[in-house]
Amino acid sequence: MITLAEHRGITKPVLARLQKLGIFDVQSLLLHLPLRYIDETRITPIHDLRSGDQVQVEGEIVHAEVQYRPRKALICRLEDASGQLSLRFLHFYPSQIAALKVGSRLRVFGEVRGGFFGWEMVHPQYRAVRAQEPVVETLTPFYPTTAGLSQATLRKCIAWALQQNALAEILPAAIYEKLGLPSFADSLLALHHPSPETNLQSLQDRDSAAWRRLAFDELLAQQLSMRRHYARRRSLGAAAFKVSKQLVPALLQSLPFALTAAQIRVVAEISRDLAQAHPMQRLLQGDVGSGKTIVATLAALQALENGWQAAIMAPTEILAEQHYRKMQGWLAPLGIEIAWLSGSQGKKERIASLEQVASGAAKLVVGTHALFQEQVQFAKLGLAIVDEQHRFGVHQRLALRQKGTQPHQLMMSATPIPRTLSMSYYADLDVSVIDELPPGRSPVATKLVSDARRDEVLIRVRVSCQQGRQAYWVCPLIEESEALQLQTALDTYALLLASFPELRVGLLHGRMKPKEKQAVMAAFTAGEVQLLVATTVIEVGVDVPNASLMVIEHAERMGLSQLHQLRGRVGRGSEKSACILLYQNPLSKSARARLKIIYESNDGFEVAKADLALRGPGEFLGIRQSGVPMLKIADLERDAALLKAASGLADKLLQENPQAVEQHLQRWLSQSQELVKV
Ligand code: ADP
Ligand code: MG
Repeated sequence: MITLAEHRGITKPVLARLQKLGIFDVQSLLLHLPLRYIDETRITPIHDLRSGDQVQVEGEIVHAEVQYRPRKALICRLEDASGQLSLRFLHFYPSQIAALKVGSRLRVFGEVRGGFFGWEMVHPQYRAVRAQEPVVETLTPFYPTTAGLSQATLRKCIAWALQQNALAEILPAAIYEKLGLPSFADSLLALHHPSPETNLQSLQDRDSAAWRRLAFDELLAQQLSMRRHYARRRSLGAAAFKVSKQLVPALLQSLPFALTAAQIRVVAEISRDLAQAHPMQRLLQGDVGSGKTIVATLAALQALENGWQAAIMAPTEILAEQHYRKMQGWLAPLGIEIAWLSGSQGKKERIASLEQVASGAAKLVVGTHALFQEQVQFAKLGLAIVDEQHRFGVHQRLALRQKGTQPHQLMMSATPIPRTLSMSYYADLDVSVIDELPPGRSPVATKLVSDARRDEVLIRVRVSCQQGRQAYWVCPLIEESEALQLQTALDTYALLLASFPELRVGLLHGRMKPKEKQAVMAAFTAGEVQLLVATTVIEVGVDVPNASLMVIEHAERMGLSQLHQLRGRVGRGSEKSACILLYQNPLSKSARARLKIIYESNDGFEVAKADLALRGPGEFLGIRQSGVPMLKIADLERDAALLKAASGLADKLLQENPQAVEQHLQRWLSQSQELVKV
């Protein structure tokens, strides 16, 4: 097939800009699909304009001037037989002033809004026309583009690509017929050159048959590439760990609680994987407080008993420290040595830890991302566990895996991932779910309280602490400035200290030295500190069962998952717990939506589903920046049925038609999108 560079119409600069858009060949050019459509098939009389309409208007410029107040702007008035419309340009070139001079006849396209002087369009697209020039006959596609690449150039390139004999079906047509989907060629033509009868709305909403066909192909490509990845890793060798006969039973016996049925099930799933001679790739999901730490510890013991090391990495110092203590408590009686590694530890201590890890004296290593730095050499790493995995970048996770030849990998997450998402973006992982909380937990009562009623909240905190319970006071999140965030925490602390002279109040924030943080957390855990004023550093994993009240200030600024995680810090003991969300009016629409969801649901799964709907998969999974290619066409909610069909078909194709698999992947994954999933 001809390459883009060989096409005469595509100059070097155009080629470079196309590449910036991820377009490298005819296929990716064909699959560069419109963002929206412009209806230039009609001309709307100015008299008929309505606010918010996207329309084309034709007329003559009757007035043009550059204004300097309130800011520099080029203002023109366009007149047709029925009325006048203002055009406003805030950025413009001298060439535009010339094109928009009085007497010019133009077709302009843009969104109409009611301005101070009647109808107005801001930065409309425009072009000069002759009188009586016929209108275009098809809807005009508007493509995503980059600086210096005009819509006209893109349209020309794509029109050329459509003629390059690259529209053939790869898979048997019967597959698509059965799903009621049109052919590849018809779909692309319908999207790039929609006929005038096409329903603009269903094109824009992307639920026309053509869009659905391409969404299906995209989902299929994702399924195929994920499965291939999975198979490739599956074919690697790893140490097989026999089921533990001593350490696991010994730890279970010493625990003050019995595992829940869900924990028993996932422990068995993990144990079975570890006994295989290829690396485990398992994601352990469980809501906040469902007891993932003990499951991870039991997995580690299986590796240890087989003579291998295990490592547990946590995203924050506080959480890693807490794991370290907890595991010390559980494992020291079994005679197991644990090494501690963190970025903030002293040089001497660090050297000692590194030595423990390298010699293999320490069988279990707990720490922060300091774990995968270069100097860390494991004697024999057999299992890498990543807690709160979504907090780490892909590369950080990869780096830890590379510390062993082929260690088994267990990733843990408190963010329950809705089924459509795990079927797509996590299709290359095995998933275990803890779907049950330990017994005796009572659901946290969530209350929404306007900031105007702070005093009542203060009374409640006092009473609660005087009754021997403990409370968190979470300071507002200030994303713009860390310094301001710190200042706010200090102010809040001072205020609460003054309000509660009779209580022991502690402060915890991100800028404290690790030693200070440890001391405060230890005091809170021991019950010496009654009220802990904290920034969101306590968000992940902190576990103090006696704390039964949480106040979150400016809850309207926080994300849903974050609120759910924070709330999960209480309700961990048998005491009835409450979470008070203080908010400041007026609330934005999205803040109101978030608070409503968190108020109505205690179920992490429901919260996650709502969060996904509000933010979309890229933000939700934190994968937008991770190098995992995002679905561009398919929408997992809308196209759930297509996803299911694609998933079934992928298995069949891999078995029966590897050649078609290869071709389909080539069409859909351009070289820029090679999967880097770990
Ligand atoms: P998460 O899943 O959020 O990481 P943790 O592992 O921190 O949860 O567990 C929360 C708390 O529940 C801990 O104090 C833990 O010791 C306790 N726990 C775990 N499993 C059980 C169980 N089966 N019964 C009672 N308590 C449990
Ligand atoms: Mg945890």
